[in-house]
Amino acid sequence: MPDEFSTSTTVFEMKRIAYFGGTFDPVHNGHLTIAREIVKLFELDKFYFLPAYHAPHKPERPPTSAFHRFAMLCLATRSEANIAVSTIEVESGQRRYTIDTLPQLRNTHPLDKIYFVMGADSWAEITTWREWETLLLNFDHIVVTRPGYEIRLDHVTDAVRERVVDLREVDRIRSKTDIPGFRIYLTDAAFFDTSATALRDDLNDGHLERDNELPTEVAKYIEKYELYR
Ligand code: ATP
Repeated sequence: MPDEFSTSTTVFEMKRIAYFGGTFDPVHNGHLTIAREIVKLFELDKFYFLPAYHAPHKPERPPTSAFHRFAMLCLATRSEANIAVSTIEVESGQRRYTIDTLPQLRNTHPLDKIYFVMGADSWAEITTWREWETLLLNFDHIVVTRPGYEIRLDHVTDAVRERVVDLREVDRIRSKTDIPGFRIYLTDAAFFDTSATALRDDLNDGHLERDNELPTEVAKYIEKYELYR
């Protein structure tokens, strides 16, 4: 078989995979909207939610176990063909940093293109992340708009700014997302006003007025296991 044929076969097999990190305490319809829209826009083969093992402790209530947060994600994504939940961080049983997880994911998928997804609020505080500049310069990232958060670029270095590809208000993006080198893509593919904190507060007060913001199966699970009380 000629070499050029084997080369083109390898390129053809490359998958496009996204990982969306967070605590998902609980997963809400804002997270799900992001997953669905990013799959379409970036023509992904797979989108993984990547729940952290460690959920920051809130003084008013105990932290939610990683098992519960993982289970809610599985219920929320049960019928989604291309959207799944990664076990990698919860299995580690300890706090993990993204700069440790992404190289591990790359080793697991050496032929694939991997994107790390975050919301505009996470982007705003990215410079507090461990080895943030190394993380941004050595992996592809997708930053998604979020109501109430402006996407600014003045908190990062010139080297990072040069990698930014602004896809907001762009409707056909495939050609733009195959730019060589690691990039930080900004997208307004999703713009959904909800937060896990607001949902937990509602649940704690005993009335969920935002029931269109929580997947039905997740709401039932929360009730059954008496979470967020
Ligand atoms: P909390 O309100 O407790 O901070 P959250 O709703 O932000 O929770 P997380 O699990 O902390 O949920 O978020 C995981 C990821 O999802 C983060 O990158 C965050 O920026 C992003 N995200 C969450 N909600 C939205 C939203 N409505 N729009 C865009 N990004 C979001």
